[in-house]
Amino acid sequence: MSESKFNSSVVPPEHDGASKTGEHRVIRKSEWVPGHHPEPHKRDGTRSGYIEHYLKCVRCGVEVLNKMDFPDECRG
Ligand SMILES: [Zn+2]
Repeated sequence: MSESKFNSSVVPPEHDGASKTGEHRVIRKSEWVPGHHPEPHKRDGTRSGYIEHYLKCVRCGVEVLNKMDFPDECRG
């Protein structure tokens, strides 16, 4: 009985269809990150972590915080 998978796969997708960014097939993801949020005004003192939202290309597997950070080429 392992509960370790609970962290990253518990958040349901907001849309079942991926959107396209250039050559990439992009989905929105959320992940629980232990520790304090890097931006102090977003910290919640009652928690030991925060939810980080990011974007992932389902073809090449690149993960970025901002869709402008995707490389031009999708090597998926
Ligand atoms: Zn890609």
